[in-house]
Amino acid sequence: MEIIILLVVVVVLLVAVPDIRRSLITRPAFAFFKRVLPPLSPTEREAMQAGDTWWDADLFSGRPDWHKFHQTKAPQFTEAEQAFIDNQLETLLAMLDDFRIVQQDSDLPKKVWDYIRKEKFFAMIIGKEFGGLDFSPAANSHIVSRIATRSISAAVSVMVPNSLGPGELLTHYGTDEQKNYWLPRLADGTDIPCFALTGPEAGSDAGAIPDTGIICKGEFEGKEVVGIRLNWSKRYITLAPVATVLGLAFKLYDPDGLMGEQKDIGITCALIPTNHPGVETGERHLPLNQAFMNGTTYGKDVFIPLEWIIGGKDYAGKGWRMLMECLSAGRGISLPALAAATGHVTERMTGAYAYVRQQFGMPIGLFEGVQAAMGKIGGTNYTLESMRRLTVTALCEGKSPSVITAMTKYHMTEMGRQVMDAAMDVHAGKGIQLGPRNYLGHGYMATPVSITVEGANILTRNLMIFGQGATRCHPYVLAEMEAASNPNEDEGLQQFDSLLLKHIGFAAGNFFGSLFMGLTGARFNASPMSGPTARYYQQLTRMSRALALTADMAMLVMGGDLKRREMLSARLGDVLSHLYMASAVLKRYEDDGRQSGDLPFVEYALEHHLYETGEAFKGFFANFPNRIVAWTLRLAIFPLGIHYHKPSDANLQAVAKSMMEPGVTRDRHTFLCFWKDDAKDMTGHMELAFLAMREHANIYKRIRKAVKHGDIAEDLSGDELVKAARKAEVITADEAKALKKTEQLRMTAIGVDQFAPGVIEKRKFY
Ligand SMILES: Cc1cc2nc3c(=O)[nH]c(=O)nc-3n(C[C@H](O)[C@H](O)[C@H](O)COP(=O)(O)OP(=O)(O)OC[C@H]3O[C@@H](n4cnc5c(N)ncnc54)[C@H](O)[C@@H]3O)c2cc1C
Repeated sequence: MEIIILLVVVVVLLVAVPDIRRSLITRPAFAFFKRVLPPLSPTEREAMQAGDTWWDADLFSGRPDWHKFHQTKAPQFTEAEQAFIDNQLETLLAMLDDFRIVQQDSDLPKKVWDYIRKEKFFAMIIGKEFGGLDFSPAANSHIVSRIATRSISAAVSVMVPNSLGPGELLTHYGTDEQKNYWLPRLADGTDIPCFALTGPEAGSDAGAIPDTGIICKGEFEGKEVVGIRLNWSKRYITLAPVATVLGLAFKLYDPDGLMGEQKDIGITCALIPTNHPGVETGERHLPLNQAFMNGTTYGKDVFIPLEWIIGGKDYAGKGWRMLMECLSAGRGISLPALAAATGHVTERMTGAYAYVRQQFGMPIGLFEGVQAAMGKIGGTNYTLESMRRLTVTALCEGKSPSVITAMTKYHMTEMGRQVMDAAMDVHAGKGIQLGPRNYLGHGYMATPVSITVEGANILTRNLMIFGQGATRCHPYVLAEMEAASNPNEDEGLQQFDSLLLKHIGFAAGNFFGSLFMGLTGARFNASPMSGPTARYYQQLTRMSRALALTADMAMLVMGGDLKRREMLSARLGDVLSHLYMASAVLKRYEDDGRQSGDLPFVEYALEHHLYETGEAFKGFFANFPNRIVAWTLRLAIFPLGIHYHKPSDANLQAVAKSMMEPGVTRDRHTFLCFWKDDAKDMTGHMELAFLAMREHANIYKRIRKAVKHGDIAEDLSGDELVKAARKAEVITADEAKALKKTEQLRMTAIGVDQFAPGVIEKRKFY
């Protein structure tokens, strides 16, 4: 008893008497923290300080506020946006023939370029005052996604000027003069922009660009002025071959002190007309056969005035920060839009094809093996669309959530790749043979483009998500890091002292909370919703608490080493990402009014994300170098074992079945997919065949029965089948007429394109 009283007194003294606490706890902890603090490079520090946190911070805190989460309203289109979507967008979609664009012309037709420019597709993010459309991120994402269901080449061409580039940078940082000159020209399509950061030596490590700008005197418009002499060599630049204005990132130096004391000024962005003397638009690349413009740009000793720096002289050296601040929005919209398009097309078309295509006497979609692939497509597409919407919601709220957009870019493009692979497997030869009727091939070929650009995926997963999440989303770590780097040691110690107590309380709450939730299966956790999703909220809260505990322990034990141990830290990033994706699924289910038809999809997605969360923890514990800590964490979080499992077979079958049912669920899940009411159309031919076959399902059923009884010969199709069925009086004359048309559609749908000798060799398809 005496010992307990003594312990309590010691703890009370330590906590309540600041001087004792500071010298016995805070000071050693402060020294330890400084020692293990991950050393931040200036570029990392800028990345860390750029952007906001949002729902990711809730998930990282271990205490997600679900009520607050559900109060967030899903964005609605304005009247102008809706009118554009109903008119200009539909007109553009009807103009796109992706086979011709990619295989024949390697370019968009002139009339498409003209239409895109005239209708301001390039000006969705430019303000109305400059003649732009000023559309929300939600409209931007919807428009790019829907174009991508038709042509990746057209979608990339439209998306780039609406992502990070001159338009975005000018809007945020441009001087009035720059805005007034350039933005109206970009808005009405007079100018086409590109933005050049990447070069042969600097890809992912974009901060290491070797391109230079030297401040010096030179001649501009007949006068001697102080300006910049530029040398650059850039590659992979989208729209560069057709751009009339080049956004250029380079490192600026002032060796003669013409601008001030600082010699090494840093990364700077400038806008340069491509017809300026010395600017050389180089050769074109061929990015996996896609037809969007992509190429090189060079410049040797090109002299530009200082006024061409985006934002003017004041923004010299601030380029990296500008890029980091603006990257978020584009990263959360563009490539995710392409991935969402993949999800919508693969779900709609695979469901249709799996019904239309029959082998062994029945639709292939009735075979369990095919259903497994279909279930994955449908279930994953539910997450894709949910994630697209949730991230766009944050962007519409004016947030610039860097961790969320990194998660969205990485996971959506990876999921896009997975559903594309599964769709190719189900379509087999139909997906492989290119031609006007192949709606998968070009998307399949373009998949690595999405994986690579705007932050290559391996880097995004391994460096960015947890690396930034741990500091940005953690309730205390960033503030503690700032305290530790305070040049005034005493002030830093005081700041640290007040944070430390809260941090210790937070960590203790995470430990005991995790243990309690693990022992009780999280059944005492509050859930904001009743019904079939209630248990998922409880489990997600539990995993959120587990993440908070594990992240803290990992940072405490490994300090700066955690950054280098990418395989470990990426797994914690995966946990955060799966919690975010599962939240997005739950939000969409509620926002869409809890549709019963969605339940198999919702169940697939949530089981999958919980399973992957468990697997990420399992991998983390198995590989964490301090085995005592690893086992303590594992026992605290999963005292009764890890029981999350993959979606069940029954669930996969339910999703697959739903994908083969025409109706509202299918339409709601695939609304981005464009198809024309035309049997020659890329997607229309499959859609029409599917709908006709479903409409006449009863006739086919009767015929199958008659075949079984031997009234109609086996293996007949098309006209022969219709004639035989009519002759055996299995169908009426009207039914024969309908069946004939349906059989024609079916034959077109299972058909692939073939070309006369010489056509492919000469690329003269049209
Ligand atoms: C079609 C296309 C269009 C593009 N458009 C533009 C454009 O308009 N403007 C522009 O400036 N750039 C553009 N890019 C460049 C694009 O952003 C870069 O390709 C990208 O940054 C990756 O650079 P890299 O290809 O040189 O790969 P590398 O940097 O060589 O990377 C190779 C691999 O290593 C991984 N990796 C690198 N470092 C790490 C690390 N620390 N941890 C873990 N993994 C790591 C990467 O994830 C990648 O998987 C485009 C590229 C393509 C292919």
